[in-house]
Amino acid sequence: MASPKSNGPEAEAGPWKLVMENDGPIKSPIKVKYTKLFINGEFVDSVSGKTFETFDPRTEEVITSVSEATKEDVDLAVKAARAAFDHGPWPRMPGSERGRILNKFADLIQQHSEELALLETWDGGKPLDLVKVIDLPKSISVLQYYAGYADKIHGMTLKMNGAYQGYTLQEPIGVCGQIIPWNFPLIMLFTKIAPALACGCTLVVKPAELTPLTALYCAHLSVEAGIPPGVLNVLPGFGAIAGAAISSHMDIDKIAFTGSTQVGRLIMEGAAKSNLKDVTLELGGKSPLIIMDDFDIDKAVEIATVATFTNMGQVCIAGTRVFVQGGIYDKFVKKIRERAKKIVIGDPFKGGVQHGPQINKIQFDKILKYIQYGKIDGANLLIGGHSLGGKGFYIEPTIFIGVEDNMRISQEEIFGPVMSILKFKTIEEVIERGNKTIYGLGAGVLTKNINVANRVARSLRAGTMWINTYLIIENDAPFGGYKMSGIGREYGPYGLQNYLQVKSVITPLHESPWL
Ligand code: ADP
Repeated sequence: MASPKSNGPEAEAGPWKLVMENDGPIKSPIKVKYTKLFINGEFVDSVSGKTFETFDPRTEEVITSVSEATKEDVDLAVKAARAAFDHGPWPRMPGSERGRILNKFADLIQQHSEELALLETWDGGKPLDLVKVIDLPKSISVLQYYAGYADKIHGMTLKMNGAYQGYTLQEPIGVCGQIIPWNFPLIMLFTKIAPALACGCTLVVKPAELTPLTALYCAHLSVEAGIPPGVLNVLPGFGAIAGAAISSHMDIDKIAFTGSTQVGRLIMEGAAKSNLKDVTLELGGKSPLIIMDDFDIDKAVEIATVATFTNMGQVCIAGTRVFVQGGIYDKFVKKIRERAKKIVIGDPFKGGVQHGPQINKIQFDKILKYIQYGKIDGANLLIGGHSLGGKGFYIEPTIFIGVEDNMRISQEEIFGPVMSILKFKTIEEVIERGNKTIYGLGAGVLTKNINVANRVARSLRAGTMWINTYLIIENDAPFGGYKMSGIGREYGPYGLQNYLQVKSVITPLHESPWL
């Protein structure tokens, strides 16, 4: 390995101290009730009897053991989902009735949001304050949004050419496999299941092995809401085993996945090699945030901080390539360093903490490796760059300046709290450089000039473009990737189309002697 290049001034030592309760991390915040597979409306042990442990990212200690799904369990869940789809009431009931049940489900999530928030923070290390204001309300609202669509799924009438008439039916696509990531376990769960349930599909859902607890809790609430047995099955398990069994299953009609591009490719392969099931993939990103000279610098600093450091950088749309125009570059660098120092790091259960641990050792090591790459490739470490505390996966908010387009920290998704600042002169230049990535999930531009904003918005190849804001995801705004960031869109009416098949029905208008 090459030795680190000399990078000019050494990074300033971080000012952060882990904020904890007096005697360390808050212990056992809640009793875990649901740890078994949820198949056909019941919690059951896995066929193999296997279990796996889920860990607390703050302490690296085991929270609990959870039943592990393998291929046999996937087969049982698919059987239940198939029976519920082919013969059960869910796809056949009036849409308004499905909508009513989904709204009841949303009410139950709301009633249990305190327990769910505690579980989400414990299993994933996410700051509780944020889980309460973002993850829970967002999960509930996406469920309500699609509950409202359940009785508004219509086809078209077709005039055809005079001899025939026709119409289209929008039918539920069938049994769906849905594979959920660990960075937003609840939001991603509801983003996947809500539209599919509204359409009348039945589901086999695999939460991430790192964060299975809230999905199981919600499975329990689905029974109380009145979702019939077999409609929603939840199978914790490992990607390469349970996940692969889902993506290559011959009796699953559709697969939807959110996670890394690498795994997205495997999912597509599984679909291609089995029954050519339809796929929706929401994958990685390396999103540019472009800051023009004319924009308010303090606001720019705030937006860039949120864009990179929210959820400890474990966000697929994180705006980690921050392009700053030459006229404000020096000032921006000074201010963002001061702003980063104010981020409160510590036990995510403690009020006021904004930045908790990374999810696990693998991610923690990967992020530290990329920080090394940044130094080796010749970027200057402005602040951060170290782990924090003896236990748990805490990493300082880290900022590199003098980053160039071809460096690994500028090209590869780090999925951690690492910002790269790049300097540019002209709009033409930054459009070209902003697009120099295999990804195309999100992009942002900060400017007071509407013409510049419009030009950049139309020129960057990304599924979501933010002007003078960042990271905003709304239920009715389609979300997904260009290039290797994915296939298909979620949210809004597009989210429904993922779970519908269109059928044309054609009849003659007149008696015909030959047809
Ligand atoms: P990361 O973002 O850490 O790379 P992954 O993309 O590996 O996360 O995981 C996201 C989800 O995909 C998890 O639920 C995981 O279990 C699942 N998964 C991982 N590997 C596979 C695979 N080969 N087939 C299907 N699902 C997988």
